[in-house]
Amino acid sequence: MPDNGEKLIMLSLEEARAAILGRIHICGAVEEVPLRQALGRFVAEQLCARVDNPAFTNSAMDGYALAVDDLVAASFELPLQGASRCGDPPGVLVPGTTMRIFTGAPLPEGADTVVMQEDIRLERGKVVFPRSMQPGQNLRWRAEDFRSGDRLYVPGRRLTAYDLALLSSAGVDRIPVFPKPRAYVVATGDELVAPGTPLKPGQIYESNRLATLLQLEALGAEVNDGGTVSDDAAALRALLKACAEYDFVITSGGVSVGDHDLVRQVFSEIGNIDFWKARIKPGKPLAFGRLGARGHFFALPGNPVSSLITFKLFVEPAVLAWNHAAPRSMPEFAATAGNELKRHPGRTEFVRARLHLDRTGHLIATALHGQGSHQLGTLRDTNGLIKIAEDSIGFEQGEAVIAIPLGLDLL
Ligand code: AMP
Ligand code: MG
Repeated sequence: MPDNGEKLIMLSLEEARAAILGRIHICGAVEEVPLRQALGRFVAEQLCARVDNPAFTNSAMDGYALAVDDLVAASFELPLQGASRCGDPPGVLVPGTTMRIFTGAPLPEGADTVVMQEDIRLERGKVVFPRSMQPGQNLRWRAEDFRSGDRLYVPGRRLTAYDLALLSSAGVDRIPVFPKPRAYVVATGDELVAPGTPLKPGQIYESNRLATLLQLEALGAEVNDGGTVSDDAAALRALLKACAEYDFVITSGGVSVGDHDLVRQVFSEIGNIDFWKARIKPGKPLAFGRLGARGHFFALPGNPVSSLITFKLFVEPAVLAWNHAAPRSMPEFAATAGNELKRHPGRTEFVRARLHLDRTGHLIATALHGQGSHQLGTLRDTNGLIKIAEDSIGFEQGEAVIAIPLGLDLL
């Protein structure tokens, strides 16, 4: 493909993100799933508690329920009468007595305090209590956690196992969620071969498609693998036909200046595609657009590390926005540089880094060697990124830097 010399629009990272997020068709459909299938799904309608939690005032301890006034009147010795066990309906405390009670069992009417069993003595058929206690101690009050009707979740929240435990305790059994976005992933390039096949001269093993598929799955998408297509208009056109039913179509490669005319020529037949160059490193020209009534199209760069980073920077927020979630930037932490790095200003740079906590708990970020956007080897040691501002000339060892952990469990 000859370079037609066309100038691409240059956008900052923030401008590129805003350009994408401003053009997302947000999901309009809702489906209902049981709790067990709602992990990682995005809440589509406000969810309210159906019961109070606790549902009734109950004991926080195995012990004895009593009324403090009775206890004082009886010189801290009370006869034992009755028991409250888990699952029992709330009973009634006989005035002037104490009742055996177990953790989670309802506080009987007339009682206002529980003393834990370790603190009492049984003497002469009575329960002898300590003289120091707080009225109301060891109780879990009705609705102190949440109340029936309280709003627990709003649309866009991605549900974790903790959230589902809470919803289960709140009596919610089915969750309205957005349907999983359907995504289609394709690698473009005549040189690409799947591992397992011997390489012919000039060929390389393909890697972007797998990473894109897996990252989309981790974001809750239902992903179809479109394989590898060659760099020609007929192949791209065939791909387009398959795209009509997808929410996200993501390609890698073929958007370098010179190449991208092909993608533009074909995609402009059904979509409205913008090409630009974001002032980020790694990351080459990108394309983004809408396809038909519901689809979104991303053409990510072919260089493997550029493809990974642009996915994180642009595709991830787009999928979150589609699900009505606030499209967060990657979380940024203050860290100290473990080594120096010098560079030319002009682009926001994401440097692959090794993050660790030193003995005092400070976060140290060390830039790894091998930052070329083709250098996948560096990923083995990467557990974070250092973000360098557009106008920065780099940093000295010991200077403050911005670190982005890629999984806190890797620190
Ligand atoms: P392109 O963006 O198509 O010009 O590709 C840029 C560089 O990335 C070239 O060296 C390609 O061979 C390489 N590349 C493109 N697509 C992939 C892929 N899916 N997996 C691995 N490398 C790729
Ligand atoms: Mg290519």
